[in-house]
Amino acid sequence: MIARCLDCNATLTKDEKECFTCGASVIRKDASSVIFGKRFASFLKYAVILSAVATVASLFFDTMPSFPKCFAATLVLLLAKSSAEQMLEKSKGL
Ligand SMILES: [Zn+2]
Repeated sequence: MIARCLDCNATLTKDEKECFTCGASVIRKDASSVIFGKRFASFLKYAVILSAVATVASLFFDTMPSFPKCFAATLVLLLAKSSAEQMLEKSKGL
């Protein structure tokens, strides 16, 4: 597998710790999974907010899904968000 610099897309050798083209530190697999985790966590944050808004809206509008459905979805998203954040905390400590 060929590694590529995330900043300038230059091809990197296995042993390089810095990109020789732009000087950015080479991001290894574990680091990119942290980046993915961060994106996933921020996506979940927005999903929780949207779901919470939908839950409140379901109380007032008949066109929304029923309140228990929205409430359950918000709870599930909150759980997913907190476990994603816990995973991020753990990977920081490594
Ligand atoms: Zn580079």
